Amino acid sequence: MILAHLPRFHLSILAKPSFSLSSSHFSFLNPKPSVTVSRTLFSFASKSNLATVEPIPLSVSDSTDLDDAPAEIALDKLFIPPETDISGEDSASLTTRILKGSNIVLSKYARDAQVVQADYVKSSVKTEDCPADGLPEFALVGRSNVGKSSLLNSLVRRKRLALTSKKPGKTQCINHFRINDKWYLVDLPGYGYASAPHELKQDWNKFTKDYFLNRSTLVSVFLLVDASIPVKPIDLEYASWLGQNQVPMTLIFTKCDKRKKKKNGGKKPEANIKEFQDLIQGFFETTPPWIMTSSVTNQGRDEILLHMAQLRNYWLKH
Ligand code: GDP
Repeated sequence: MILAHLPRFHLSILAKPSFSLSSSHFSFLNPKPSVTVSRTLFSFASKSNLATVEPIPLSVSDSTDLDDAPAEIALDKLFIPPETDISGEDSASLTTRILKGSNIVLSKYARDAQVVQADYVKSSVKTEDCPADGLPEFALVGRSNVGKSSLLNSLVRRKRLALTSKKPGKTQCINHFRINDKWYLVDLPGYGYASAPHELKQDWNKFTKDYFLNRSTLVSVFLLVDASIPVKPIDLEYASWLGQNQVPMTLIFTKCDKRKKKKNGGKKPEANIKEFQDLIQGFFETTPPWIMTSSVTNQGRDEILLHMAQLRNYWLKH
């Protein structure tokens, strides 16, 4: 049972028992004490400097479109890692501890985030065949075409690493990439292929669900959701299944650079992101961590790595 091995970071993200996408879950944010996420928040210079969590002043050339960044995040919508005390913080100092374009507060565990080395290790067809060296891992999953390969390549700063898992025969596998010889990034099969036969879809479901429930070294699933298009029911189902099964989850909103109105149904990524969060909040006791990303501008890259680092370091210590 995964929780037996994971007294980890996300025990705060406890699913509510019921599972249905009924309208009662579609409640909106109540006015809550909020912290202003100022536009001078901290950002990381275009060259990664992940050895430190020191705030770095926002550079002019930063790729994030801050004009559209959500201005405020209610306190109860923040992801506050365990062993992180924010009680003595005023709004301004707390603001500097929130990762840009996310709801994630930095903890003392956010260190050693750089990717120095990335190696493809293996593709497994069953959970039992996955590497057995006990290193912590993060699994990337999302609808086909969500931008998973692009994000994986962006995280490891390679153009083609993820192509390994796109080779014929590997797309339905659990693909392990070892990072710095210390942890794994795991590429899971995409879901929601329109053309896949029903039976095959069921199989993929069974296969990835088994991995989620039984992989004891899984620190967090990173569920990728395309922020440039309106909310898709299949993504909501996936998120709610993870919530219901108490599988630790981080939401990664992809393609946040895309804001052409024609293509995304008139909504900006921020609006799609808010809608997604409103729709899933009924499935979680507390708000899951989320990060806005773009593989085109590298928005969110350093934030994901810092978030992974703090989850990982906490996991290793407990
Ligand atoms: P996968 O099927 O989930 O692995 O998705 P890919 O990484 O292959 O990307 C699918 C398509 O979306 C490709 O045409 C990418 O160029 C495009 N794409 C991926 N990430 C981004 C992004 O952050 N911004 C934009 N504008 N396009 C992206």
